[in-house]
Amino acid sequence: MGVAAWVSCTMPGSPLQPLMPQAFQQAVGHGPSSQVWMACTSLAVAGLAMIPDLDHPTGGGTVGHSIPVAGAAASDVVRVLSGGKHRGFSHWLLFAAAMGWLAWLAAMYPARTPVGDVFWGLGLIAALALTSALNVFGVPGGRPAHVLAGLAAGAAVAWFNPAGPMLAAVMVGGACVVHMAGDTLTKEGNPWLGPFPWHLAIPLVGRAGSVRESVLTLACAVWAVWVGWESGAVWLAAGLALWALGTAGWCVKDAVKAAVR
Ligand SMILES: [Zn+2]
Repeated sequence: MGVAAWVSCTMPGSPLQPLMPQAFQQAVGHGPSSQVWMACTSLAVAGLAMIPDLDHPTGGGTVGHSIPVAGAAASDVVRVLSGGKHRGFSHWLLFAAAMGWLAWLAAMYPARTPVGDVFWGLGLIAALALTSALNVFGVPGGRPAHVLAGLAAGAAVAWFNPAGPMLAAVMVGGACVVHMAGDTLTKEGNPWLGPFPWHLAIPLVGRAGSVRESVLTLACAVWAVWVGWESGAVWLAAGLALWALGTAGWCVKDAVKAAVR
């Protein structure tokens, strides 16, 4: 869903892109003209959208499992702070805003070193995002390869700082919001207005992890391919099509599992 939302809001071929507020368009800037930029930011958003599930009881969901030591530590902190409750404070709108603000700070205040400015916070975010995204998409190579790729991307981002503060904030905060929108579609709902305890649920997909959820993911993937294609981003569309194929595979697997049960 993160990727579908990101390409919908940023790519010129998407019917939603012209409807985005001026401030958003300015934050994104001229980036979408490049397919490499689109691919990198889409992957990052996919990974960042996993952040709220750091409170997942199985050890922090994808982020907690993707990144050795740091992922587990971050998950422990979030789970202790949320009192062991899943869909606690990391699913509040306030949390998304706080994450966006932290990303803004990270892109604003580099560490000044004798060899130049190092955006270590932004590098950390990028490493986390890419490692999680590679894990989510099941990219071959396993955890060591994902972590190495994440660290390399993080180092490059820390050194070259390709994202301005507004873009970093929009990507991180926006990815958290998309996650919350996804959780809203499940029976359990999402506590948007935390610390107030209300959960908003529009349970179109039923329980988290249901066949209907996989079908929604497939629909998002197909939509993203179409937007990529319409925008003339052929290589990106091809990459997204691979993802859609993988998602279709899961859908079939989930449906078979549900039928056997
Ligand atoms: Zn969640």
